[in-house]
Amino acid sequence: VKLQVVPASALIEDALDSFAGMAADNGIELRKEETTDTSVMADPDATHQVFGNLIENAMKYGKAGRRVSIGARDLEGEVEFYVRDYGAGIPSEHLDRIFERFYRVDKARSRESGGTGLGLAIAKHIVLAHHGEIRVESELGAGAVFFFTLRRASLEDADANRDKVRTAVHT
Ligand code: ATP
Ligand code: MG
Repeated sequence: VKLQVVPASALIEDALDSFAGMAADNGIELRKEETTDTSVMADPDATHQVFGNLIENAMKYGKAGRRVSIGARDLEGEVEFYVRDYGAGIPSEHLDRIFERFYRVDKARSRESGGTGLGLAIAKHIVLAHHGEIRVESELGAGAVFFFTLRRASLEDADANRDKVRTAVHT
């Protein structure tokens, strides 16, 4: 990943713009729960894919809930992003293994709905490459929330970013 300084809200807006149409086609309302203007260190193409994999799952496995919400909030030194659905949720005995490659909860049902069991493994790989963390919380019958964190950009990061832009303009 190639990290740059980017406002958390820009990553949220990008995800909304990119996936709201697909959600609507599936009869699901994709909405923003909350956001923050804090800047993080992110590779926007890569985080776009993380949101895509999580939102795709939320729409597929949480379809019954009819809405998916995303958000970003400030934590100490980092921003926490999340994708929340109101579907069937994930049985607790599977929560530990859900990020493993090819791991799927309901093999018969998931085969029907397509997919290979790679989406979450890829999302985890990308988040770890950012030195962030990814986790899930789920209450059976009430839905699932996937969280990932990205490091907050420091003033030095912002200065370095600005210098890069300046150099690019003057050379
Ligand atoms: P792929 O993403 O490669 O198309 P997949 O969706 O099966 O296939 P993952 O995205 O890695 O693979 O998800 C792994 C499994 O975790 C899914 O098969 C599903 O059983 C479960 N899962 C993922 N997200 C949710 C969710 N939001 N609600 C309920 N179960 C989920
Ligand atoms: Mg998936």
